[in-house]
Amino acid sequence: MRAPMLREVLRRLEKAYGWPPNAEEFTAMLAKAKGLGPLGTLIAIVLTQNTNDKNANVALERLYEISDGLSRKKLLAMSIEEIANAIRVSGMQRQKARTIKAIVQGFDETTLMSEDPETLAKKLLSTPGIGPKTADVFLLMVRGYPTFPIDTHCRRVLTRLGFIRRGEKYEAIREAVIKELGRDREALLKLHTLLITHGRRICTARKPRCGECPLSDICPKVGVDEG
Ligand code: SF4
Repeated sequence: MRAPMLREVLRRLEKAYGWPPNAEEFTAMLAKAKGLGPLGTLIAIVLTQNTNDKNANVALERLYEISDGLSRKKLLAMSIEEIANAIRVSGMQRQKARTIKAIVQGFDETTLMSEDPETLAKKLLSTPGIGPKTADVFLLMVRGYPTFPIDTHCRRVLTRLGFIRRGEKYEAIREAVIKELGRDREALLKLHTLLITHGRRICTARKPRCGECPLSDICPKVGVDEG
């Protein structure tokens, strides 16, 4: 079976899960909904690295409380230890604290919003602890720049759908998705969040529930043991 068209995948997932998603399930969206601004939202995205959004939300709340609402001035004055203690629940707290410190030292609200997206992407990627996924989530969700962030759920579902090969490079996946969907910001954002929701609820890492999946009849189920 050939890989299905992403537009069809998107149509079916949107029908199954609805749109927009509950902001509580996506820390970056929650940060935006709470009016945190670009700096606060970028910090929120860093907090989601290697953890679930529930833990990231708790860490964000704690950091918010002790930093005068994620004030840049306050965060600049805080030590790595103070930041790490506040965000401990999200894991890798020292590394994330160092990244947060580097962010407030290197960026402010104005540069994050006014810098040309390509230049900003390069600057973000040269910041310790910021990789392509974190940069892409920020560019797509905050700047509205048409890119495609790939997390573990997106990668797994796209692999099982036969859209990408196992172990495909991040940049190659992003390019392939954009090639098919075009620079359609809304479609890219929807596909990103809906693949995550699908990976959390149905196409889970272990024992995906193919029998309940709205994509079952068009999915080649690459690498899935249906026994
Ligand atoms: S049919 Fe199975 S492998 Fe394919 S997307 Fe659905 S749950 Fe995942």
